[in-house]
Amino acid sequence: MIEAKGLGVVFPNGTEALRDINVTIDDGEFVAVIGLSGAGKSTFLRTLNGLVRPTSGTVRVGGVEVNRLSGRSLAQFRRTVGFIFQQFNLVTRLTALDNVLHGRLGYLPTWRGILGLYSERDYELAAGYLDEVGLAGKEHVRVDNLSGGQQQRVAIARAMAQQPQLVLADEPMASLDPRLSDVILGLLKNYNEAHGVTVLVNIHVLELARRYARRVLAFNQGRLVFDGPTETLTDDLAAQIYAGSLEAL
Ligand code: ADP
Repeated sequence: MIEAKGLGVVFPNGTEALRDINVTIDDGEFVAVIGLSGAGKSTFLRTLNGLVRPTSGTVRVGGVEVNRLSGRSLAQFRRTVGFIFQQFNLVTRLTALDNVLHGRLGYLPTWRGILGLYSERDYELAAGYLDEVGLAGKEHVRVDNLSGGQQQRVAIARAMAQQPQLVLADEPMASLDPRLSDVILGLLKNYNEAHGVTVLVNIHVLELARRYARRVLAFNQGRLVFDGPTETLTDDLAAQIYAGSLEAL
């Protein structure tokens, strides 16, 4: 379960990226996070895996108070959260399989990880996740020889290989041809349903949020202004979200 209470983030330059966010998300939910560029969506996701530290309030994930973690405990926690970036963040000179194996690093003693001494089981799992994202046969292809859509699928397989409690995807379709949006969101949705893992995805395009998510969180200027089932997000409400005319929740 995710629980944010009075969560606020002010960046050192004074930008108030999040203001008094209060929200609870149950295990296994698939939630779309929407709002204009700069609304605070990415900052919100980043507080959930400790990439951004709140300046006020608290955030708990799976009973762990993320804002209290640092050093080794933060690194350990982060291994339980898959993060999918706009720009994939893969090691492009390595193969698809090697990148997915990186998702297993959290399960290895550090010295084995440094030497790349994965177990047979790790290899099996990594190949299985590549298969799950439709990339069977591409295991030994270097990532820089894959298309953008295929690279993002490798990144999703790497997140799966972490066997995470939570997957956060920060506009995972943003650097791809719009026609690939359905492939990426479809994979995340199938993963959520098949494995019961909570997925939060920042989606710029409202139509896509409506098609894939059961629940929508909407941000405007750092405030949470809508939180409800997708079917209650009418066109009128959506227009108000984007116009900034809704009160903070
Ligand atoms: P979104 O994901 O909705 O586009 P962000 O969470 O990226 O929004 O940004 C929210 C606000 O915080 C924006 O005004 C953005 O410019 C600002 N911001 C984001 N990251 C930083 C940072 N590291 N330092 C200063 N300001 C930032």
